[in-house]
Amino acid sequence: MRKPKLIGSLKYRKLRYTKNHPLRIPRVSLLLEFLEALDLISAEEKVEGRPATDDELTLFHTQDYIETLKEADRCMCVPKGAREKYNIGSYENPVSPAMFRGSVLATGSSIQAVDLYLEGFSAFNPAGGMHHAYPNRANGFCFINDPAIALKYLLKKGFKRILYVDIDAHHCDGVQDAFYEDDRVFVLSFHQSPEYAFPFKKGFLEERGSGRGKGYNLNVPMPKGVHDDEFLYLYEDILGEVADSFKPEVYILQLGTDPLEEDPLSKFRLSNLGFLEIFKRTRQILGEGIYLGGGGYHPLALARAWTLVWCEMSKRKAPKFLPQKAKEVLLSVEWEEYDDEERNYLYETLKDPWRGGPIRGEIKKLKEKVLSNLK
Ligand SMILES: [Zn+2]
Repeated sequence: MRKPKLIGSLKYRKLRYTKNHPLRIPRVSLLLEFLEALDLISAEEKVEGRPATDDELTLFHTQDYIETLKEADRCMCVPKGAREKYNIGSYENPVSPAMFRGSVLATGSSIQAVDLYLEGFSAFNPAGGMHHAYPNRANGFCFINDPAIALKYLLKKGFKRILYVDIDAHHCDGVQDAFYEDDRVFVLSFHQSPEYAFPFKKGFLEERGSGRGKGYNLNVPMPKGVHDDEFLYLYEDILGEVADSFKPEVYILQLGTDPLEEDPLSKFRLSNLGFLEIFKRTRQILGEGIYLGGGGYHPLALARAWTLVWCEMSKRKAPKFLPQKAKEVLLSVEWEEYDDEERNYLYETLKDPWRGGPIRGEIKKLKEKVLSNLK
């Protein structure tokens, strides 16, 4: 068995987005504190994240964009013209310590995850998975596209068949775009249909790649209300088909937690048990991979879901009830439910009950359509 490593840092506590931004919440630092309080991680398993170098950043981003981010970081202001040219400084992509320092740390950590994987470990970088950023433009709360950089890094290492799987509730437009004409990277994304969800313009089934990359991109845009059984019904067979035909040498899995029902920014209704099951099936089909975080705007739901992923990676039994110490970590988060829903269970247990149900006709049709599209 590969020894598990969690790449993180408590530095993220101070590298936060602006107040009122959906990403202002504690995420990686909360996960670390929560795992610590649950006694589910050893010192040996923790790896302190390191910032990405300029050479790593420019594997995907343009030099002028990186220089502008640095300038914005220095002055904590929007450099002249940067909003128009680079989409920096909008409500969506505000100037904050998270913008450059946080993103660069998360990106270096994704490179570390690749390196650790290549050294024979099982590695998870929960700060990674910022899949919306473009080479010269911030997008969808993302400034630096660490998955695209990690994929470019794998290409540089000589891999020729790399699979990228993304289960974030939102389509990975930045990653798709980066490898759209490339047959060495297969991008497979399961997400809320862009008909009703961000990024609205990309993420449709018809987008199958172009040029040499034709056939090496696959989107599974899903309707609102998808539950555990429906997600897995689509996921297992589609991933299996892609794995059989593409035969990846290595894969990266983006584990955004926003498909969870509690999440304020999505319309899916997965439980963390369903989320965990997606992770398990991925490993059954593809073996060990490189794991990144992603979206996730409910801090408590996020910490609980990634804790289950970590328990699975490190072959630990997840506790049924939360001990006082762990409960206190969650209670210390400044968090108000957005929808007046009582969610006391978040503080009491670790695993949600399964949120399943019958498979709707439109889900069955979608699977048929996707699979016939693959042939
Ligand atoms: Zn998302």
